[in-house]
Amino acid sequence: MYGQLGLPYIPPELREDAGEIEAADGGDVFGDLITERDIRGMVHCHTVYSDGRNTVAEMAQAAASMGMAYITITDHSPAAAYAGGVKEDRLPQQWREIAEAEARGPIKILRGTESDILRDGELDYPRELLESLPLVIASRPERHHADPETTTRPTIRPLDPPAPLPGRNGRCGSAQSPAGTRPAARP
Ligand SMILES: [Zn+2]
Repeated sequence: MYGQLGLPYIPPELREDAGEIEAADGGDVFGDLITERDIRGMVHCHTVYSDGRNTVAEMAQAAASMGMAYITITDHSPAAAYAGGVKEDRLPQQWREIAEAEARGPIKILRGTESDILRDGELDYPRELLESLPLVIASRPERHHADPETTTRPTIRPLDPPAPLPGRNGRCGSAQSPAGTRPAARP
């Protein structure tokens, strides 16, 4: 189709009617887009501790074989009972596994969580625990979606410092780091 219009191919992620046609017409070949080779690590990964299918070590090995420099283990918090959320007393065991797997190399493994936003706007797990993690993903559970009027405040409340920032609504959010810590995307 682009050929028939006398234009070069426009990558799907640019098809926003935001000037890409004019840019293509002007000779831009969009050679500076992020590609798979630019991805350095993974920030949202589940293991058998919650609803994942692989162990911490297996996830780390798989990420290493894909050329990743790091991986973050972010299993579900206890409120996500549907996904086998990890109770607080099981976390030390997971952290030991992470330390052991990281010691075997070759990639960095960060501790994290996908913490459910609770009905009152607090995050699952005690705050001190959350603040000890390099990366916290705050997810609003799908079961809250039924009533948008009364769930907006709990959803935006974790944005208040020093709590972590939410990613997006739904079962799995995207990653943000707690205020005052280094973004895990650049460990
Ligand atoms: Zn998830």
